[in-house]
This record gives sequence, C-alpha cells and structure tokens, in this order.
Amino acid sequence: MPLNLASIRQAPKAVLHDHLDGGLRPATVLELAAQCGYDQLPAQDAAALGNWFRDAADSGSLERYLETFAHTTAVMQTADGLRRVARECALDLAEDGVVYAEVRFAPEQHLQRGLSLDEVVEHTLAGFREGEQLAADAGTPIRVVCLLTAMRHAARSLEIAELTVRWRDRGVGGFDIAGAEAGYPPSRHLDAFEYLRANCAHFTIHAGEAFGLPSIHEAVAFCGCERLGHGVRITDDITDSESGPVLGLVANYVRDQRIPLELCPSSNVQTGAVPSLEKHPFDLLARLRFRVTVNTDNRLMSDTSMSREMLKLVDTFGYGWSDLERFTINAMKSAFIPFPERLRIIDELIKPGYAVLLG
Ligand SMILES: [Zn+2]
Repeated sequence: MPLNLASIRQAPKAVLHDHLDGGLRPATVLELAAQCGYDQLPAQDAAALGNWFRDAADSGSLERYLETFAHTTAVMQTADGLRRVARECALDLAEDGVVYAEVRFAPEQHLQRGLSLDEVVEHTLAGFREGEQLAADAGTPIRVVCLLTAMRHAARSLEIAELTVRWRDRGVGGFDIAGAEAGYPPSRHLDAFEYLRANCAHFTIHAGEAFGLPSIHEAVAFCGCERLGHGVRITDDITDSESGPVLGLVANYVRDQRIPLELCPSSNVQTGAVPSLEKHPFDLLARLRFRVTVNTDNRLMSDTSMSREMLKLVDTFGYGWSDLERFTINAMKSAFIPFPERLRIIDELIKPGYAVLLG
C-alpha cells in the first residue's frame, strides 16, 4: 500500500501528547464564543480564525504560541463548552484513525465561570465518553484517556496531582506540567511529583522544548517522570565524533531507562525548538534507538493531525509502514493504562492493522 495521507489515515495510530485546548475546531470556537459572550476573537469566520491560529503559532516563540490558548480556554469555561470540545476531540481523532489517545488539559484554566476543579474534570470526561460512543457507532472506535496538567508558572501543582489521583479510575490516566519552561524548572513542583510517586500515579513532564538539558535532567533525575513531553533538547547531550554520536550521562539515562520522548514534529518547528523539519532530531533519535513517539501537540495551532505528522516524517526521512508501526507500538508501550490493556491494543488493533497495510 503506498504511503499517502489517505492510506496513513487508515493505519491504527496512538497519540500520547495532544492538548484539549489546542485541538478545537475553529467553527466550534466561534459558536461557543457567541454562546458565552466572549468577544475577543481575532477573526469572525472559521477559515480566517483557523489561519490566525496557525500564523500566531508560526511566530517561532513559545511564549507567543502559548498566547493563542487565551482564546480557546476562554470558550471552555462552562459544562457545555467543555463537554462539546471533549466530544469533538474524541471524534476528530477517531476519524483520523487514532485508536488510542491521551488528551491533556489544565483544569485550573477553566474556573473563570464558577466551575470547581472536580466539575471541570467531570464534564470533560463526560464529553470524551460521548465522543467514544459516537465514534464507535460510526465504526471508528477509539479509547481516550485524560491527563491533567498543572501550569508550571502557577502554584497549584499539588492540588492538580491530588485531583489526578482522585479521578484516576474514572478516566484520568496521569499528570503533566506545561507552560513556559524558562524560569520555571520542574523541581519547583517536587511536592506534586512526590505525592504522585507515593500514590503510584503516572506522570509526564514538558521538558527540553524551549529550554535545554537542565530541564530534562531535573525532570528525569529529580522528579522521576516516566515520559518526557518533547524532550527534543536531549540532543544537547549528544555530540558528534568520528566514530558516530556520543551520548552524555543524561541522554544515556533516558535511553537506558527507555523513557519515551513525546515528539511533536510540527509543533517543535513552530515553537523554534528545532529550526526545520529537515533538521528535526526525530530520525537521529530513532536511529539511536531512543523510544520515540509521534504526536500532534496542538492540532488547531499546527493545522495538523496524527496522519499529517506521520506523513511529514515519511516525506522528510523516508519512513515506511514498518517504521510507522514501530513508532505506534512505542507509544502504546508507553501508555498510562494497565499493561494488559496496552498489549491488547497492540495485539488486536495495531499489529493486524499494519499487517494489512504491509501486505
Ligand atoms: Zn505540549
């Protein structure tokens, strides 16, 4: 089967790093803004608004990129808004052939109209369940697990860690910290990570995107994260030599421990973490046998999908179906669900799906 957008959409895919507030449909942003009286949107029709998000995100600065979220989170402050956005997220991922998704968002950013943290989680999970049901009815079943994010510049991470543990058997799979990296090292939130570890809860940390190796070092060595959100700057600890790449202490540790890298090719270029897709270290890291995974990050801001991210990698690095299968199995091995459930998805959905495409 030739590799193109249509055929990749048929392949079973898994995404570990996708932001709920970064994946809204432009038309939904407009409709929800009208419903809740939010009048700050920079454009008034769906196509223009979609372009505005992409252009703002293309600016090359993580801070500017993060500004776009003021508009999406503004329309996700009510039960109906959260539910609809979560439902459509599940449907859009499923329609793209994603069979397993971990979707994250920061409940603390959805309290402006009086919802409590628990209510925010409750309505979002209800939306995911509705989306899963509709997707199953449409013949594109998907499982969606929610990750709760704490903002790294704020001081609510312990509270969000507690929220994660409180909801973990009801649709929440783990915890994350996100937001501007510089000046806000992960070790600021050590109490949250200690609480999670004491409760045997899963967590990932955005690290090594805008900021370099010290951020990754803290995330893995001080905080004990199971996965790295992006982690592209692990390349700061890999040097070239005549006999090939040489790994430093942190890079070796990340590879030895099989710590998954949640790489997001388009987003990494947009935020300036890497200069271009051609210079993205995805392929270097894959060849060095790091546990690389392919992710979307923010489908709205990057105007992308899992299939498009995979196609970009195929076009840039010449990957074939067996590579895409390997990246997908890497993601499932790293999922924040119980081991037998990961295996079931690998054995019953992913391997048979790629077997058909491999011919
Ligand atoms: Zn992210």
